[in-house]
Amino acid sequence: MTTPLPDLRLNGARLADGRLLSIDIAGDQVAALRPNGEDAPEARRSIELGGALVLPGLTDGHVHLDKTLLGVPWRPHQAAASIRARIEAEKDYRRSTRTPLAEQGAEALLEAALRRGTTSLRTHVDIDDVAKLDNLTQLLTLRERWADRMQIQIVAFPQSGILSCAPAAAYLDEALRMGADLIGGLDPVGIDGDRDGHLAIVFALAEKHGRGIDIHLHDGGSEGLDEIDDIIARTRAGGLGGQVTISHAFALADADERHLDATADALRESGVAILSSIPGGDRCPPIPRLRARGVEVFFGSDNIRDCWNPSTVIGMVDRAMLGAYRFGLRRDEDIAALLDHVTTIPSRICGLGAGEIRPGARADIVAFEAPHAPQVIVERQLPSLIVSRGKPQELAAPPVLK
Ligand SMILES: [Zn+2]
Repeated sequence: MTTPLPDLRLNGARLADGRLLSIDIAGDQVAALRPNGEDAPEARRSIELGGALVLPGLTDGHVHLDKTLLGVPWRPHQAAASIRARIEAEKDYRRSTRTPLAEQGAEALLEAALRRGTTSLRTHVDIDDVAKLDNLTQLLTLRERWADRMQIQIVAFPQSGILSCAPAAAYLDEALRMGADLIGGLDPVGIDGDRDGHLAIVFALAEKHGRGIDIHLHDGGSEGLDEIDDIIARTRAGGLGGQVTISHAFALADADERHLDATADALRESGVAILSSIPGGDRCPPIPRLRARGVEVFFGSDNIRDCWNPSTVIGMVDRAMLGAYRFGLRRDEDIAALLDHVTTIPSRICGLGAGEIRPGARADIVAFEAPHAPQVIVERQLPSLIVSRGKPQELAAPPVLK
């Protein structure tokens, strides 16, 4: 029996643990790792990396492909004081435009993210009385078109609430039938004013369709902490450990140390993950402490130049740098560990990305011109090579964002 020739071999690849290897890729999977320079049957194509650091493709755990305005001319931010006011301001904009999402910015964002080494992402998609199921329909088409370059999970997101937006619940149900991967939620108290009512619908839809959950939770203080407790309790009751994410969880920044540690332990034990964009200001959860207590935390971009926020930090190397900056991390091991939040953790929790470079894993690999991860992060490097689903990506100059 003969082993088929690998389609691609990456020579001189430096893994994060320091090993210098050749990586064989067959189809869309890593086929073998061997000591660099070891005799082996020739591959169909070889690329010499010269000791460049290789990492598994990076994962952006939270984007809004349907919101970004990267593809259209600059639009000054329309400041709004509350989340409810921002929702209404965005809906006004939605009513005023018929630009397809791909042209509005979704495609530009996917290209910019890939150029920065992101090969998998989770996007939320607005489901409400204005977007209805239109944004989802467009993102399903976009996902299909990008299937060879970007692994995309879609969360059906009730941006205008569920109880306070009459058609939302039926649309969410239909969205899961159409192909959304997870059910979302939004501030059960802050937006819908009914913690139990909102969460009951979200968890019922998850159970009905056998899907995971990813809830936006901006509610702060004891109200937000109580909502986190409720989500943990429902996760335990439904046997949904490992399938539930709380995005943002700003309330964790408000907890005193004892309460924080108790909540962190409950998150870990129940298998509820936390997604953070590492926001500025005083609402960022204390990620190093959550990490130390074993909570599964992964990182995402959230808003990228949209009606909510003009911020345009797209790559996950940049996002890791925000973590180092925000938490004052200086030691190599602390900075390098930030990569877990954009590689191994989202792979384990969400099934996004390869997570690691090993035989049998999805061949999503990014290479950087540095000997180790801390340098990549502090210099906010762009990758020199991106392999997605086994295929080297053509890297033009970084796309010009209008
Ligand atoms: Zn979001």
